[in-house]
Amino acid sequence: MIAIISDIHSNFEALNAVIDDFKNYSITEIFCCGDIVGYGPNPNECIEILKNKNILSVIGNHDAAIIDEVNLDWFNKDAKEAILINKKIISQENLKYIKTLPRYIIKNELLLVHGSPRDPIYEYLLTPNFLEINIKHMKQKICFCGHTHIPLIYSKSSDEKSKIYYPKNNFSIKLEKDKKYIINVGSIGQPRDLDNKACYVIFDDENYILHFKRIDYNFHLTQQKMIQLQLPKFLVERIEFGE
Ligand code: ZN
Repeated sequence: MIAIISDIHSNFEALNAVIDDFKNYSITEIFCCGDIVGYGPNPNECIEILKNKNILSVIGNHDAAIIDEVNLDWFNKDAKEAILINKKIISQENLKYIKTLPRYIIKNELLLVHGSPRDPIYEYLLTPNFLEINIKHMKQKICFCGHTHIPLIYSKSSDEKSKIYYPKNNFSIKLEKDKKYIINVGSIGQPRDLDNKACYVIFDDENYILHFKRIDYNFHLTQQKMIQLQLPKFLVERIEFGE
């Protein structure tokens, strides 16, 4: 079984709660679809967990920003401010780690990116049109991504029929071998589908079953840390409402 997490955004409490949930499964490999840093208060602690648990991650747009690979003007005011605060507290060693992250990971029939197959770091897959273009572009069977913070399953069958589904709560589905999929695994540290629980995915690659999981965590503690660091008020509030 493979676990796929994404968009941790320096939220240590959420990441820890999810790591704890891994114990309920026999997980052999863990991947991360990027955006380890930004928005939240604990970039170093989150990176340490990824290193210690051997979690392989691709680079996200916030990760790219903290190592000056992208102009901060591409980000909104709150996101920009949070990146600058993260940049102040991140260690040199962890900055180096961020610099080693690849743009995509390919594992057999799986592709892992932050944004989209054709634009791995920056493109948002928010519309059927963009999903359609990207699923045609990808050579692998299944793409796992993040970036929008909204869990999604997009499928395309061999007769070109496509379907979009937005999984809510804990949700399992058996995938079909003759279809292609783009799967957004949701966000650990800042969910935006009106559910404040951390979201991640387990892929049972033997039985071809996908499990979306929602995990409660102590967001009050994360909020307190954010207030202490003077992170923008809107960012503090939104993790409580999942928006
Ligand atoms: Zn993100």
